[in-house]
Amino acid sequence: MSQKPVFSRRSFLQGLAAGVVVGGAAVGGSWAVFQQVQPVYWRPPERWDLESDVVVVGFGVAGSAAAIEAATNGASVIVIDKSSTPGGNGVMSGGNLGVINSSIQKEKNMQTDPAQWYKGVQGLMRATHWEPPFPDRDMKYVENVGVEVGDWLPTLGVEYDSVTPTSLRTKGGGSALVSALQKAAKEKGVRVETELKVVQLVARPDTTMVMGVVGERNGSRVFVKARKAVILTTGSFSANKDLLKHLSPVGYHAVPITSAVSTGDGLLMAQALGAAIINTYHISGFPAIAKINSRYRYRGISAIFVNEKGYRFVNEGAHFDILNEEIFYQPGSHAWLITDSEQVKKSTGKGISTAFSEDLSKEISQGIVIRADSLEALAEAIKVNKANFLKTVESWNEWARTDKKDPDFGRVDTPEFTFSPIQTPPFYAVELVPSISETNGGLLADAESRVINVNGKPIPRLYAAGDVVAEGLISHLGEAIFFGRVAGRNAAREQPWT
Ligand SMILES: Cc1cc2nc3c(=O)[nH]c(=O)nc-3n(C[C@H](O)[C@H](O)[C@H](O)COP(=O)(O)OP(=O)(O)OC[C@H]3O[C@@H](n4cnc5c(N)ncnc54)[C@H](O)[C@@H]3O)c2cc1C
Repeated sequence: MSQKPVFSRRSFLQGLAAGVVVGGAAVGGSWAVFQQVQPVYWRPPERWDLESDVVVVGFGVAGSAAAIEAATNGASVIVIDKSSTPGGNGVMSGGNLGVINSSIQKEKNMQTDPAQWYKGVQGLMRATHWEPPFPDRDMKYVENVGVEVGDWLPTLGVEYDSVTPTSLRTKGGGSALVSALQKAAKEKGVRVETELKVVQLVARPDTTMVMGVVGERNGSRVFVKARKAVILTTGSFSANKDLLKHLSPVGYHAVPITSAVSTGDGLLMAQALGAAIINTYHISGFPAIAKINSRYRYRGISAIFVNEKGYRFVNEGAHFDILNEEIFYQPGSHAWLITDSEQVKKSTGKGISTAFSEDLSKEISQGIVIRADSLEALAEAIKVNKANFLKTVESWNEWARTDKKDPDFGRVDTPEFTFSPIQTPPFYAVELVPSISETNGGLLADAESRVINVNGKPIPRLYAAGDVVAEGLISHLGEAIFFGRVAGRNAAREQPWT
């Protein structure tokens, strides 16, 4: 399709001066080349193939919530997804939502003070070495999530099979949640275009106002006009090794346990428009068992983690994001889970991983679990510093036999993480490595889900929600739904640009 520029080169360069990030080589080149290589299409096309008030890019958790809300507020909506079976990471997820003060929780006398809850989340974030970036956005979430997420989802047919004061788990996990959201969007009259990969935003070079998107299907370009706004809900960049290499050393070295569609497309498109990108260092994940890259399920047994130096380095009962990151920081970015036959007898091999056999014989023959008749032999087999290792286990056993207090890392005795001596041969070791399920950093979006540029200003008519946005570790799914709804509502309220 041949296209002629409608904006002057002068106004285009003014756009650049206003902070638009583009590759310099393209500026003096031909428009044809420029439009092919840039993630922004810098002018309206001669013909739009599809159009609606609101265009949502990505039909996962955030995208379907945004689409439902935009349609509910009177907008016509097209949702575009590159996959034939949209749903991204949401389908793989456990369906655990960080929610407080929903009706179902209140019925069970579970009331939580939002400020107190947020304080706890801030503590978790600081433990994983980052400062909570958006207190106002986060407070909007904690104060309204009960109604906006907890009470809203059941109106779409979602059921909960676990309720605690601070969480709700969707029955059927993430795939049931995504199905319910997508079904509700379709019932609202939302048009869904699958196997259409959005590759460019269409924007004015002078103001960076977003007018639509360019999709690719079977080698052809499809121009989709958004009369009111575009909402980016393309998920994380956890499956994009090149981006991880640049933006997140932990993510780059971690084992991917994530959907292959999580390639950061929305992040790159918005960045080319000058969007600010923050906190990309941070990822979510849980310690994975080396060799099989499967999640460990260390629950209900007494086990400790040691590094190559033979030292413990963390409270093994801490949040999985903390364990994951701390393992990354150890020499060789790995660690060993250590336990004994008493514990394995008590919990079977499934106490370490549900994927393991009960007596661990299969995993031992495959070298996934290392067994030794003495602690000395175990230290040699896994090549950790023997003297330090023996001292570490001795201290642990001493605390376990006496007051069950961990003076080094503050671990406490709970039914999930018991505090028993590791003393009965044979002994077992399982190597752990960090994994990545999703990235936590991303586009800077405000409490209204507007994408903010590097000058601190909203990019006109561009909204974003879900993992494409830098989030505050309160609840990935919860925030995707909450801020997806905010984006949909605000996008529907925009006045059309023509
Ligand atoms: C194993 C695992 C377990 C998890 N468990 C939990 C949990 O229990 N609780 C929790 O809160 N979080 C959990 N998460 C995280 C949670 O799944 C994500 O935070 C959530 O799914 C993000 O939703 P999203 O809509 O932003 O992205 P996604 O759900 O990933 O959806 C993104 C969609 O965008 C589409 N897309 C991408 N690029 C384009 C493009 N260029 N053009 C068109 N479409 C595009 C994709 O095909 C996909 O359908 C888990 C994640 C994993 C991997």
